Amino acid sequence: MGLATLNQPYEQVDPSQVVAAIRSAIGVSEDHAFQPLHVPHFEGAEWDYVKDCLDTGWVSSVGSYVEKFEKEVAAHSGVAHGVAVVNGTAALQIALQVVGVGLGDEVLMPALTFVATPNAASYLGAVPHFVDSDPATLGLDPTKLDAYLAEIGERSLEGLRNRLTGRRFGAIVPMHTYGHAVDMEPLIAVAARYGIPIVEDAAESLGSIYKGEKCGSLGRVAAISFNGNKIITTGGGGAIVTDDADLAARAKHLTTTAKVAHRWAFDHDAVGYNYRLPNLNAALGCAQLESLPSYIERKRSLAERYVSAFEAVPGVSVFRERCFGRANYWLNCLFLDDPSIETRDAVLEATNEAGIMTRPTWTLMNDLPVYAGAPAMLLDGARNIEARLINVPSSVPLGENPC
Ligand SMILES: *Cc1c(COP(=O)(O)O)cnc(C)c1O
Repeated sequence: MGLATLNQPYEQVDPSQVVAAIRSAIGVSEDHAFQPLHVPHFEGAEWDYVKDCLDTGWVSSVGSYVEKFEKEVAAHSGVAHGVAVVNGTAALQIALQVVGVGLGDEVLMPALTFVATPNAASYLGAVPHFVDSDPATLGLDPTKLDAYLAEIGERSLEGLRNRLTGRRFGAIVPMHTYGHAVDMEPLIAVAARYGIPIVEDAAESLGSIYKGEKCGSLGRVAAISFNGNKIITTGGGGAIVTDDADLAARAKHLTTTAKVAHRWAFDHDAVGYNYRLPNLNAALGCAQLESLPSYIERKRSLAERYVSAFEAVPGVSVFRERCFGRANYWLNCLFLDDPSIETRDAVLEATNEAGIMTRPTWTLMNDLPVYAGAPAMLLDGARNIEARLINVPSSVPLGENPC
């Protein structure tokens, strides 16, 4: 231990060592070009499938790629049904709606998530209720949620209510952060005990596994995103996946203007949405899905390279999957020992200055003015992650090609 660390409970990190370790992990020398956090990657049938849409004229809301994509997304998520939609936010909104979330319900979700999670609940007139996260998984903390619900929950005919607000809890939304699975077993037990449906925000976790089961198959229904920055992309897009045939049919109906099937009549039996994914985007998605297993291997190999590169760097480690999970490592995360925003920002400053794109995690949702008034539990775990986590370049080509 050096003199400077005598009064410090944490090992100090040297930002220049972080820069050097990242360069070593991604295999670039000092005069490298700008290194982005994540870029989409196309190496398979993308051109062929998209060209096929153009050649045949099937570019828009109907076409064979949509159905094929829906089947394959479901298969990659370990469930029977998939509904392709315009983006992950729309997928989450409809997933919440089909499990019965509506006006005035509260939706339990991590404060540490992307803003789409609370937004999807807000679109339905529901209120996000923020739950703490576990620094060991980066996801919703089931032990804390259990204790919290025991304290503020009140059973009623419509289900568990928040005693303080009188509102019903409509759903629990675990989000598998950067591709690392939430500890689902205890969470499923809590949800079952109180009869609250689980809607997974699996936007970042396509192909990730929890105790042998795929993320996206662990709740009643899940939402996936195929935005340009996710592990695979359709340009923009999302999917609702579930094993429940009725929920899937309802989701398909609502996302296709709630039109009643008929040869010519325009009858619509609900306020539906035009959320369907165009065939062009689905074609891109079909090609990308073929590459997914190889992408995951490369991301996992990149994670290993980060782990080795940071072994000798004091004050920082690389976030690794838990023994129960097999992560897709969508975005790699550094974890600083010292939970201080100043230390984190010094590393962000040095890396971005050196032409390496790094990012902190999201501002906690209840720190955003729009959600400042939303109910929330104590967020010690989320604050700890917020102060310590830094995302580093993670694009597929940075990993090693499997042979
Ligand atoms: C990307 C993302 C979404 C939303 O997906 P879009 O396709 O961008 O609408 C939702 N939740 C999380 C956690 C995400 O990372």
